[in-house]
Parts: sequence; C-alpha cells; structure tokens
Amino acid sequence: ELTLTNIGKHFGGAPALQSVTTRVNDREFLALLGPSGCGKSTLLRLLAGFEQPNAGSIRIGNREVANADTRLIVPPEERNIGYVFQSYALWPHMTVRRNVGYPLEIRKLSKSDREARIDAALEATALGPYGDRMPSDLSGGQRQRVALARCLVSDPTAVLLDEPLANLDVALRASMQGVFCDFHQRTGATMVYVTHDQAEAMAMADRIAVMNEGRIIQLDTPEALYARPRSRFVAEFIGDGA
Ligand code: ATP
Ligand code: MG
Repeated sequence: ELTLTNIGKHFGGAPALQSVTTRVNDREFLALLGPSGCGKSTLLRLLAGFEQPNAGSIRIGNREVANADTRLIVPPEERNIGYVFQSYALWPHMTVRRNVGYPLEIRKLSKSDREARIDAALEATALGPYGDRMPSDLSGGQRQRVALARCLVSDPTAVLLDEPLANLDVALRASMQGVFCDFHQRTGATMVYVTHDQAEAMAMADRIAVMNEGRIIQLDTPEALYARPRSRFVAEFIGDGA
C-alpha cells in the first residue's frame, strides 16, 4: 500500500500539490490522468523519494518513508520501488546490459541468476539484440525501453511510471502495454502509471485519479468516472479520449 496523507509540495511559488490524501492498494494498477502541470510527476517523485514534501506524510506498507514535520526522508534505494521517469536517464558510459542489470549489482545474487534476469528483461522489452550497445547508439524509443527493462529487472513491490510509452510507435506501445499488464499480473506489484492518454488509462487501470491544479479531483474506476463524473472538468477530460 502507498499512502499519502495531506501532502503539500511547492517549489517556491504556486503549489504543485495541495492537501493530497489518497491510498493505492496492494496489487492495484492506478492511473494518474490530468493536464500538463497538474502535479503528476511531482506526486511520483515524492513517492520515489526524489522530493521531500512540504506538508504531510507518505507510507509504503507499514513504513513511513517521508514526513514533513519530522523531516524524515527514506532514500529512493531503500524503498524497493521501480520507476521510469519522463527523462529516462541511462548511464552513458555503460552498455545496455549493464544499465539494465545495475539495480541488481547491489543485491546478493549469483552471477548466473543475475544474467538470467537481465536476459528476461531484455527479451520482454524487445531489446535482445542490443545488449552490448551503448545508449548513445540507440533510438529514443530503444532508450526508453532500456529504462523500462531496468525498472522491471529487480522485481520491485511498487512501480512508478511517468508516461513510459510516450515516445513509442503504435505497435511498440501496444506490446509494451502488454509487458506492463503481464508484469503486474505475474508479480502483483502495485503500479502507478502517469499518462496523457485517456484511452490507455481506461484500458489498463483498476482505478484512475484525475488531477487538476495540484489536487486529485476524482478517484474512481474507469466505468464510474465515465458514468458518474463529479464535475464538468472530469466529464470533459474523460470524454475527450473515450
Ligand atoms: P506534465 O504532464 O507536463 O508532465 P505534470 O502533471 O507532471 O505535467 P509536474 O511536473 O508535477 O506536472 O509539475 C507541477 C507544477 O510544479 C508545475 O507548475 C511545474 O512547473 C512545477 N514544478 C515541477 N518541478 C519543479 C521544479 N523542480 N522547480 C520548480 N517548479 C517545478
Ligand atoms: Mg510530468
């Protein structure tokens, strides 16, 4: 479970998030949907541990990982969370294989175990032939898939994805959606998935959180959002892509 209680975050000026209280259940696939600048990436970065909230607290399972009052902040590498962010930073001096396997290097795994996991992750993201390439010699979509493979390789208990398919063509998008759904079913990981694509959110998610101006304005199943939007904003936002 990922629990946000009264989260506020600002970067000096206007708030990026205001009084966000919500819970993502174990094994749930939650989509975050909303216009540019509404705070989606900020919410993921807080969950991952790359930002500290200005107000409120965050729990992962039973463990508090951030608290604005006590200034507690558990670093990203201790949260067992996988993530792919909008700028999917790869290490430029490492091959694709090494990039993908990097999260495993700090774990106590046998070499053969590690290699097998890397092979599986490369296979799942259609990167089999590219293991020995350097990131600079890949297309944008291939780099994005390296970031996905790296995210999935260590079997995280929660996975945060920030528009992970934005640069892919239609066919790859469809196959990567399948990779996420399979991964979700196989591992039961909790997924938080940011997308601009209403149809994608409707098709993949158990529930959708619609955000606007730093707040979650409705969190519901796709069916309920569509049938019973609580505001004109939600109706128009959901209606657009459906
Ligand atoms: P998009 O769909 O365009 O990716 P988003 O919903 O992910 O948008 P955020 O990146 O969370 O939006 O940004 C929310 C608000 O916080 C925006 O107004 C943004 O300008 C601001 N913001 C985010 N990060 C920073 C930062 N590091 N410094 C200053 N302002 C920031
Ligand atoms: Mg964003």
